[in-house]
Amino acid sequence: MLIVNEEVCQKVVGRADAFAAVEAVFGAMARGDARNFPVVREAIGHADALYGFKSGFDRAGLVLGVKAGGYWPGNMAKGLTNHQSTVFLFDPDTGRLSALVGGNYLTAVRTAAASAVSIAHLARKDAKVLGMVGAGHQSTFQLRAAAEVRAFEKVLAWNPHPDMLPRLAAVAEEIGLPFEAVEREALCAEADAIITITSAFEPLLMQVWIRPGTHIACMGTDTMGKQELDPMILAGATVFTDEVAQSVSIGEAQHAVAARTIEAGDITPLGAVINGTHPGRTSDDEVTVFDGTGVGLQDLAVASVAARLAAERGLATEAAL
Ligand code: NAD
Repeated sequence: MLIVNEEVCQKVVGRADAFAAVEAVFGAMARGDARNFPVVREAIGHADALYGFKSGFDRAGLVLGVKAGGYWPGNMAKGLTNHQSTVFLFDPDTGRLSALVGGNYLTAVRTAAASAVSIAHLARKDAKVLGMVGAGHQSTFQLRAAAEVRAFEKVLAWNPHPDMLPRLAAVAEEIGLPFEAVEREALCAEADAIITITSAFEPLLMQVWIRPGTHIACMGTDTMGKQELDPMILAGATVFTDEVAQSVSIGEAQHAVAARTIEAGDITPLGAVINGTHPGRTSDDEVTVFDGTGVGLQDLAVASVAARLAAERGLATEAAL
């Protein structure tokens, strides 16, 4: 069995690796070659923590495993990240544990890869302005990944806590993109692609603000009750997701489906666009939304890359159970 710690994951898994792994597994999911198993997520009644499992099997990539972990809100005060997770990979032929992989960095990099894959496949090719809504831990990963899939010339950003914006501004500066903090309406009036990555429980962006042709990667809503978009945005858009079952239950589409402005059948897996069985965007005026809910197979895909590259470079620790 291999142990691949957080530091090694950061060393070996780059954004291009994560993009390729996530794109491939979304394609496998849409072909029916890979399946996520039901998610378990429970409040444990201790330390205010939410704990759970995301698991699945990718028959095409032969990746079987589970990500275990969750959210411990008091961790920051202890000098730890609030989100904590570990990925367990198993040999699909024998069920033996093959690797234990740190999941914290990988969660950020795979989430950023998902929205980058959506921008690569759905945003207008001539997209020039990137709008960032959110400035927390995930946002810098999101910005770096998005900047690699379109020739953005400027970043506009808004966050409910403006004091968090300078960290995002510093990343924009580092990658050579002009950065401007603006109000939400102004952001929508100019952005060609928008990423939302907040912990909001109410709509932050309204349909009347959204320009024709905009692509929105809605990444923050991953739990029942969370919400970042006016449900009417989804009603007027072509909606894509990582997994339809999650989109309508814990993703952004939960609200539009509850309001009966869209149905599950209106939502297309992004994998269908990747596989060429759905055309994706069909005009420059179309609004596209990617409801990125975060599936276990994304975690397993990047963890499997981490284990392979760490082993190849002699950076994994061998251990026996
Ligand atoms: P963080 O705690 O570092 O940052 C939180 C962000 O949300 C900040 O921008 C903050 O200003 C904003 N925020 C906090 N409370 C808010 C509120 N009540 N209303 C509106 N905005 C609020 O968190 P993070 O690690 O950057 O994660 C951001 C979101 O992304 C979380 O909701 C997290 O669960 C979600 N997430 C989704 C996936 C996925 O695969 N879709 C993966 C990881 C994280």
